[in-house]
Formats: sequence, structure tokens, C-alpha cells
Amino acid sequence: MKAYALHLGDTRVPFGQFYGGGDSARDMIKVLRDRSHPILVPVYAFLVDHPRHGPIMIDTGLNWQQAHAHRDYYSGPLLRAAFEEGEYLLRPEQRLDAQLERIGVRPRDIGTVILTHLHEDHLGGVRDLLGARFLVSRADWTSKNLGLFPFRRTPSLKNVLTDPELIDFDSGPFHSFAASRDVFGDGSVVLLPTPGHSVGHTSVFVDGGTGWQLLCAGDTLYTVRHLASDQIRPIMLGRRGRDRQLDAIARIRALLRALPELIIAPGHDHTDYGRALEQLLAGPVDPGDAHAVRRRADALFDQRGRLSGPDQPRYCPDPAGGPGGVSWAEAGADR
Ligand SMILES: [Zn+2]
Repeated sequence: MKAYALHLGDTRVPFGQFYGGGDSARDMIKVLRDRSHPILVPVYAFLVDHPRHGPIMIDTGLNWQQAHAHRDYYSGPLLRAAFEEGEYLLRPEQRLDAQLERIGVRPRDIGTVILTHLHEDHLGGVRDLLGARFLVSRADWTSKNLGLFPFRRTPSLKNVLTDPELIDFDSGPFHSFAASRDVFGDGSVVLLPTPGHSVGHTSVFVDGGTGWQLLCAGDTLYTVRHLASDQIRPIMLGRRGRDRQLDAIARIRALLRALPELIIAPGHDHTDYGRALEQLLAGPVDPGDAHAVRRRADALFDQRGRLSGPDQPRYCPDPAGGPGGVSWAEAGADR
């Protein structure tokens, strides 16, 4: 089975969104309004070329209009307030159609698209894949379609996607997860409920069949280091959302313990781990290389699941005024 990490553009986010912790509305507003500590993180989607079920996309990244005609795309005062001009970057060679062409997959060959959740930076490519079967959790879809403002207002799906297949987790337990959805009934692609970041956030387990497995964790884990959730945390969505997300992360940690060949694929890992994942997932997956990436992830943590090396992310401003970087320091180090 071939697998690809598609780097479909980058997004500017406040440092605190990734590393600021906090779960109150006040924390959230404070972080999201912070324009002075931007970092640039990759937007990843994943493509699995399944020997029996054909090419499957997991999330769809950004599209060209979203990144380059931002004001028209996010028209209206509400959307403009919510989305900042210049937050998305997409180079021509990063476009979904260009990347698919490079790897020899035609958009119309993609039969299945799984959306981990319904946030804009995961939905931009939907309009390029309209022939596919779209899967999204019922909880996420329902939460976005309540009240007077149905979900069709979301720019990336407006007039585009009308009837996705709504997922219930009705296939029984899967290792550390109490419920799951086995997409094809053969255990090769299994959806796992990982709510928190969104109410129906879904992670996607893929069994490569030849000594490697993948868990596309979407935004439940912005980076693999977020597995150490008692040390580094993103902004979380209220106390209930926080509790759910921490529970989901604990289940992912248990899944890693149960499955030694499992590789975690986070949604926006801007660290060296993300780059290693891009190199690993670039065609047929070599089991030896997959084990090396798994060992690389394991080496970040000690026996108790705490970060074994530097564990304090620190914002480093860019002297030229662009997005800053993140450096890591030991706890208690002179800062
Ligand atoms: Zn998200």
C-alpha cells in the first residue's frame, strides 16, 4: 500500500493556539486575538492508495482561492472577523491537483474522502474531489447544522457538498477505543472517535498490511509532542471539550502501546517529526523506515509518557517581522 503526506499549504496561527493551554472562553479570545506571536505551521492531508479500495483521501487541505482570494472567499463581516487575511499560504506546487498529478492519481479516481473534522483548513480540497464518497462524523455535521445558520455557510462547502455520509461509531471497540467504525468491513481503515478539538472529531487508523500502521490524528494532536498532554497543551474548547480531548489523547497513547508498528500522523506537525513523516509517506512505505519514524517518536517520551528531552516550547520572534519559530528548552532552563 502506498501512502502520502500531502503538504497542502501552511497556516499562520498564534503561538498560544498550539502551546498556550487554557480552556476558558477568555483564554481562547485572548490567544486568537494575539497577532504578535504568529508561527507558521504546515497543513497536512493524507492519501492512502489502498490495493482493494483505491485512493482514499484523509482531509483535503487548503485550496487556491482560500489562500489567494481570501477576502472574496470569506465574504461578509462575520467571516472576515473570524479569518485573518494572509493566514493561509499555498505555493503553486503545493496545490492538491498538482500534487495528485505528480504522484499519478487522478482526482476522479479518489473514491473515498474522510474528513477528520469540519474546520476550514481541512476542507479546502473538497471542491476538487466531488465524485467521491465523503465520510464525516454525524456529531460534527449535526453540530454545524443547528439553528438558523446551517452549515452550508462554511465557505469551503457552500454550494459544494450536499450530502456526506454521516458516520456513527457502530463497529464495536477497537483496542483502547470503546467504539469505532470499520469503513470497509475488513479492518483496513477504521474510524475512531476523538472528540474535543471539535465535538465529533474523528481519527483514522489505516493498516498498511506490511509491517506498518498509521493513525491520522487530525487536530487532536497538532504535533506528536502534544501526546504529552500534561506538559504541553493547545487551547482547548471549554472544560468539557478539554476533558474529551485529554481522554482521546490518553486513548491514542494506549493504542501506541498496544500497536508497536503504529505511526502517528498529526494534522500540523511543524517540527522535525513532521518532516520525517513527509519523507516516510511519499509512495510505497518501507517497513524499516516506518519503524525508524516510530522509534523517533518514542524517543521523545520517557516511560511515563512525559517528554524526555526539552519540554518547554518558547516563541522566537523573526527579526524580519515574519512568523516566528518555536525552540525547545528544558524545564527550569534559564530563559
Ligand atoms: Zn481544526
